[in-house]
This record gives sequence, structure tokens and C-alpha cells, in this order.
Amino acid sequence: MNEISCKLLVVGGGPGGYVCAIRAGQLGIDTVLVEEEALGGTCLTVGCIPSKALIHVAEEFHRIAQAARNPVAGVRSLGARFDLSEAMTWKDGIVSQLSSGVGALLRKAKVRVIKGRGTFRDGKTLVVATPDGEQFIRAETVVIATGSEPVELPSLPFGGPVLSSTAALSLDALPATLAVVGGGYIGLELGMAFAKLGTTVTIVEAGPRILPAWDEDLTMPVLQNLRRLGIAVMFNAKAEGYADGILSVAQAGSIEEVASERVLVTVGRRPRSRMAGIADLDLAMDGNFLHIDARCHTSMSGVFAIGDVTGEPMLAHRAMAQGEMVAEIVAGHRRHWDHRAMPAVCFTDPEVVSVGLLPDQAAARGATTTASFPFAANGKSLSDHRAEGFVRVISDAEGREILGIQAVGSGVAEFAGEFALALEMGATLQDIAATIHAHPTRGEAFHEASLRALGRALHL
Ligand code: FAD
Ligand code: NAD
Repeated sequence: MNEISCKLLVVGGGPGGYVCAIRAGQLGIDTVLVEEEALGGTCLTVGCIPSKALIHVAEEFHRIAQAARNPVAGVRSLGARFDLSEAMTWKDGIVSQLSSGVGALLRKAKVRVIKGRGTFRDGKTLVVATPDGEQFIRAETVVIATGSEPVELPSLPFGGPVLSSTAALSLDALPATLAVVGGGYIGLELGMAFAKLGTTVTIVEAGPRILPAWDEDLTMPVLQNLRRLGIAVMFNAKAEGYADGILSVAQAGSIEEVASERVLVTVGRRPRSRMAGIADLDLAMDGNFLHIDARCHTSMSGVFAIGDVTGEPMLAHRAMAQGEMVAEIVAGHRRHWDHRAMPAVCFTDPEVVSVGLLPDQAAARGATTTASFPFAANGKSLSDHRAEGFVRVISDAEGREILGIQAVGSGVAEFAGEFALALEMGATLQDIAATIHAHPTRGEAFHEASLRALGRALHL
């Protein structure tokens, strides 16, 4: 058996693991990264990137197809045609370009990458099954970055017509009908994309609302557009089983039948926290997640954990920020998790972005001021013909501290950076009011929402 040793061993090459390894390499730490699949993990290979590529393609197709039926501002198209296999080839090209890019960045940082599945022997040693045989790795410090995987429903095991998000992102034919079980991030992002490509979509959601982590005001424009796209949404509904093209759904005491060529199950993801010998390390847990402290240290000395395996929110930028921090801690820097802002973006149409506290969370801490500004009063949104939604700012009652910022609308994902910066820098409403926002941009709605909270909106 080959045997190597290193200062830092990172297990998992997703956004958490590869960022940790690159930063450690930059800091001169002798680092080994073990990844069994392609570099980039869930996010780059079967998550964020391919889903956004599919969403983009669907939007392009939808817009052109719509312009044949409903010309907008004098623009008429002669119709649109869609080739799924060309779209998939384009999407795969982006994924492989980015994955190779991660490989190049790791090489530049002098990180040794070992391809294969790792299994922990103990908290300092890993055995990797590589194509060339077993590789034994001994490390001073270990980072577990094994990520997460889709939750499977016992009544709807993955396979054949029952798709996980991974399978849905690699279809070779568009289904005529699709039932999506779960109205959260993935179900809505992909469900809307398939509807725009011409699939008849039904969403089956167990709860009373879509995107249940957010308030109804924020998600209402998304629900309205789901309906405009002809997507049926079933609430308080539970998928019971699937046979002969029919999904049985229990709702309000009866069983509904939803005809669906394919069923996409998106009811959450579970951490990979018990496999690969991790369970035998006997680490402290937070439910199914590995327990970590403010430095991402687990309950075992010299063993860190980052990313989806450590808890909610399971987002790529959280994993990356943790990875960077842990590399610096291993290099001897004094770091701990002290971020005020964790942006969350849902790439539905319209998009939703939230940073900081929601209105009820802020209200639970004391008196607040909440003000919103509608895109319907924003010149750029009207001239883009996308005026639905709003920006909302929540501050303490005196307007001294901004506590939360949300927006729903076309393209608001790009506001995530400005919103997070405002919270991270401890901006007040006055700071935003005193910041000149370029005209005409949709970002002026953030400026106006802050002015409105101060009682002096200019354009409303
Ligand atoms: P992962 O990305 O899951 O990476 C873990 C890696 O570890 C994997 O590559 C795996 O192969 C490897 N691994 C596991 N065990 C072993 C082992 N024993 N040996 C070797 N290798 C191993 N997040 C966002 O922020 N924005 C989005 O827009 C977004 N969209 C998404 C869309 C979809 C469809 C999905 C499924 C997820 C999306 N996410 C999004 C979530 C995001 O992908 C995850 O939060 C992120 O990938 C977590 O990073 P990670 O490094 O913790 O784990
Ligand atoms: P989710 O937690 O976002 O949504 C799951 C939904 O399924 C919820 O609305 C829940 O009420 C519902 N549900 C649960 N059990 C059900 C059942 N038996 N029948 C019907 N509905 C049921 O989960 P997801 O969409 O699978 O996404 C997983 C995670 O991936 C997200 O939480 C997020 O962290 C990450 N993600 C992020 C993005 C992004 O940042 N844009 C995109 C996709 C995924």
C-alpha cells in the first residue's frame, strides 16, 4: 500500500473542500485533497452551475417563444425551437471548463489531488481506493468536507422515471409532464425551468406555502408567476407512490392522481456525515450534521468540518467561507466565524434574495421599522418590462441599525453582494440614503426603500 503524509488533508473537493485546499496551499501548507468524483463537488457538477445553465436556457427559449404569441413593445419572433441535447452539451461544457479550472487553481497552489473514495481509519489517517490501488494518507490535521446528497422518499425511490436533481439535470428527453415533489429551492428553480421549456409541471408541496423559510409577502410574486406559467401547485399534499405514469397524492383526506411522465423528488438534502468511516470517529453531532464550533472544529482534536456536512444553510458560499477560514486557522491565524450576513438567493423567476433577519425574526428582538419600495415605481424595471416585486429594508425602530434586507424581482440575485456588504459593515439607513445609486438601475429601489424607512422616499 502506498503511504504519504501531509500537514493538511481535505476530504471532499466541493466548494468547501477545494477553497480550503487552495487557501491552505497559498499559505504554504503541505495539503492533500481527496475527491472521488469531479472537482467542484455538488455545486459545480450537479448543483448551482448546471441548474443555473438550464434556467438560463429555459428563459431564453421562453422569451423567444412568448414573443411569437404575445409581442412585447413591437418585438415579435417567428417562434422558437429547442434542442435538449445541444443545451446539455453546452451545459456540460461549462461544468467541465469550471471543474478543470478548479484543478488548475489547486495545481497553482501546489495542492496534491488524489482521486478516489476515502475511508477514515481514525482521525489522522485515511485510506483512498484509487484506480491504482489503495493509498494510505497520514495527516496532522483533517478537514471533512464530504457535502450532502438528495433525500430519497421511501415511497418514491430514485431510478427510472423518479428523478433526483442530479438526474433531472442530465435528461436526454424533455418529459411532457413532470410532477415535482417539494416546493423548495430546487423544486421551484427546476420546475419553472422545465415549464418554460414546455413541460406541464405540477408541484406537490407538503406544507401550506412554497419556499417555507421565507414570509408570504416575499414569495407571493414567485407563486403568481408559477401560476402564470401554468404550473399547478398543490399545498398540504403528500406524494404516496408512483405507478403507470400516475403519482398518487394525499391531500385533504383524499387521494388525487397526477399524470406525470417523470417525478422529480426535491424534499431536501442530507449531510454525508455517517459514511466513509466518519461514524466510527464518534464525533459529536447536531442531528444528522457534524457538530462544529465557531472555528469549524469538530469534537475531535485536529479534525475540522466545513460545508453541507455541518448544517444549514446548505449553501456553496457558506462552505467556501468556512473553507477559507479553516485554512487560515491551520496556518496559525486567529479566526472564528463572525459573519453577520449570509445571503440566500433563490433563482426562481422572479428571483428572491434575503440577507439578515426577516420581519418576524427582527420583530421578535424588539421594535422595528420596515419599508419596501416596489419595482413598479422604478424606471429601469418598467423599461425592462419586469416591474414585479420590491426591495424591503428592516431596521431597528430608530433606523440606526439595518437588521435585514430582502428583495423579490427580476435579476435581484445580483443585489446579494450590496445587501450583504450593508449588513456586514453595520450600515444604517442614513448610510444607504447617503449612497448615490446610479440611474437608471434596479438598485435604486434599495436606496428608495431606505429613504422610505426614513420617511422621505422621493419616487413614491
Ligand atoms: P459538496 O459540494 O457536496 O462536495 C462534497 C464533495 O465530497 C463531493 O464532490 C463528493 O464527491 C466528495 N466526497 C464525499 N465523500 C467522499 C469520500 N469519502 N471520498 C472522496 N470524496 C468524497 N448552493 C448555492 O449557494 N447556490 C445555488 O444556486 C445552489 N444551487 C443548487 C442547485 C442544486 C440542484 C443543488 C443540488 C444544490 C445547490 N446548491 C446551491 C447547494 C450547493 O451545491 C451546496 O451547498 C454545496 O455544494 C456544498 O458544498 P460542500 O463543499 O459542502 O459539499
Ligand atoms: P428545500 O429544503 O429547499 O425544500 C424542500 C421542500 O420540500 C420544502 O418546501 C418542504 O416543505 C418540502 N417537502 C419535504 N418533504 C416533503 C414531502 N414528503 N412531500 C412534499 N414536499 C415535501 O430542499 P431542496 O429544494 O431539495 O434543496 C436542498 C438544499 O439545497 C436547499 O435547502 C439549499 O440549501 C440548497 N439549494 C440552494 C439553492 C440556491 O441557493 N439557489 C438552489 C438549490 C438548492
